[in-house]
Amino acid sequence: MKTSIATISISGNFPEKLEAIAAAGFDGLEIFEQDFIAHDGDPRDVGQMIRDMGLEITLFQPFRDFEGLPEPLRAKAFDRAERKFDLMQELGTDLVLICSSCHPAALGGIDRAAADFHELGERAAKRGLRIGFEALAWGRHINDHRDAWEVVRRAEHDSVGIILDSFHTLARKIDPDTIRRIPGDKIFFVQLADAPAIDMDLLYWSRHFRNMPGEGDLDVTAFMRAVMATGYDGPISLEIFNDQFRGGHPKTIARDGHRSLLALMDDVIRQSAGLPNSAATMPARAKATGVSFVEFASAGPEAQHLEALLATLGFTHAANHKSKNLSLWTQGEIRILINCEVRGYSSSAYNMHGTSVCDIGISVENASEAVERAKALGAVAFQQPIDPGQLNIPAIRGQSGSVLHFIDETSGPSSVWDVEFTEHPRSSKGAGLTRVDHIAQTMSYDEMLSGSLFYTTLFDMGKTPMVDVIDPDGLVRSQALASPDGALRITLNGAETHRTMAGSFLAESFNASVQHIALATEDIFTTAELLSENGFQPLPISSNYYADLAARFDLGAATLQELQRNNILYDEDGQGAFYQMYSRPFAGGMFFEIVQRTSEYAGYGGPNAPFRIAAQKRLMRPKGMPRK
Ligand code: MG
Ligand code: MG
Repeated sequence: MKTSIATISISGNFPEKLEAIAAAGFDGLEIFEQDFIAHDGDPRDVGQMIRDMGLEITLFQPFRDFEGLPEPLRAKAFDRAERKFDLMQELGTDLVLICSSCHPAALGGIDRAAADFHELGERAAKRGLRIGFEALAWGRHINDHRDAWEVVRRAEHDSVGIILDSFHTLARKIDPDTIRRIPGDKIFFVQLADAPAIDMDLLYWSRHFRNMPGEGDLDVTAFMRAVMATGYDGPISLEIFNDQFRGGHPKTIARDGHRSLLALMDDVIRQSAGLPNSAATMPARAKATGVSFVEFASAGPEAQHLEALLATLGFTHAANHKSKNLSLWTQGEIRILINCEVRGYSSSAYNMHGTSVCDIGISVENASEAVERAKALGAVAFQQPIDPGQLNIPAIRGQSGSVLHFIDETSGPSSVWDVEFTEHPRSSKGAGLTRVDHIAQTMSYDEMLSGSLFYTTLFDMGKTPMVDVIDPDGLVRSQALASPDGALRITLNGAETHRTMAGSFLAESFNASVQHIALATEDIFTTAELLSENGFQPLPISSNYYADLAARFDLGAATLQELQRNNILYDEDGQGAFYQMYSRPFAGGMFFEIVQRTSEYAGYGGPNAPFRIAAQKRLMRPKGMPRK
């Protein structure tokens, strides 16, 4: 199946758009007329340039306000169409999209529209061209693909077909299964877009909020399954109007678009009866079973500070790497590595971001399949020279250039630690921390869709709706991704200004990604006691917070007192309860969180975030202010 994307979906000037589309691996593109008009180049040269890049022009669009016009407007519309036919022939494409009319003078009537399309079909056929009719969700008379299909059916012309666009169908809540009645050879083209569920004017929603399939809340998979059931075998093309993408990096947007199409088609194959699973071109989404390790790049006094912090958290310095300056700290199932190498990848991460998380190991059921899927979706494999005695564990580049390793029963975890590390004699009695509960990544708001697409296409993970977190100095958007059993949880936090806690972390660390790691305990009060014996310094929480907690929840006086004494925050969600406490910020705004979930609590303590952020900011020196 050919993949395609409309030039309007990508930022940049016309050549930049083309370059990004070609680099992402698309087979073709839709020329959005405005992009072409803004470009200063002869249409024949433009067509040649596109073909020279290995791309096909799959569609020319849009041609507006054609059908249903009274004379003399009708004749003018046909003249306009003939001019665009000239242009299409110069560019070298045979298909034009005609979207349903919004013209105030347009008259209704399926037969009238069908007659116009029949006549235009005659004119197009003389030149070997084809025309496709698309129902805009806000069209004056035609705003439903079922009506557009009736127009096309009655036009009865081989050169006239329908163009389907997932946004127009799904935004109006039209059942996509109605598409199954259309013969596949009468569907000339399919455009895809997703969108977040926002209740607003259709036109405004479409022009500003469309996003890549899988990034929004529309059931694009159900739409595409219906399309495939017709026998359609033409291009599938992205047509995305999105304010963030207009200002984004062309290559990132194109790469995300291509990834979204491949993942969508994989889902369609796996979900469609009649399409054999063996038609899949990549392994299924990886099943994550947990976080195997988190590796920090660090050096000198910062590394010593981090080691001291881990010691107060009850970690044991369990082993050292045989040939590298790399120490392993463990507690329960948690492994934290501190890498102080002066060459190689972690050293460049340290030079770029300071002390930061440079590598995350995800435990999966099958590591080689996970990396194969990641590569099929366009991820870049990560390799660095392997010393003798070192294991070659499959890895890819993750978000913000960090590395993701995949670890399964065969590649580790036990073998890695046994083969490459020697035990270190020291030990600690621990603080009851068992596993990594979640990893929180911070990014600029524009990168969040890309981040969630990365994880949800690679792993079997669902996403919760985005929530707003109030920082005293701005807004932070937060989105949680979790595997069905909670074995892997990742939260993405998008900062819009550098004055927020998340934004200042990005500025200080030059866009490092992991800002906090949450570690689970089964009993937070016992953990708090042990931490306090270890000299751990929790983040101090205001007494006003506890007064409010007493008003909000039915907690006994003794429990409240224990919460306050240990600086533990509390939340409930109807499923269960959540307890959380924090370390003080270190290395430019990173921190550890300690959590206890009871029953099926599924959140992350979102309601507490403003108070946690305010407490952290009280401890961090405001920029430009002298240290007290
Ligand atoms: Mg469209
Ligand atoms: Mg958290």
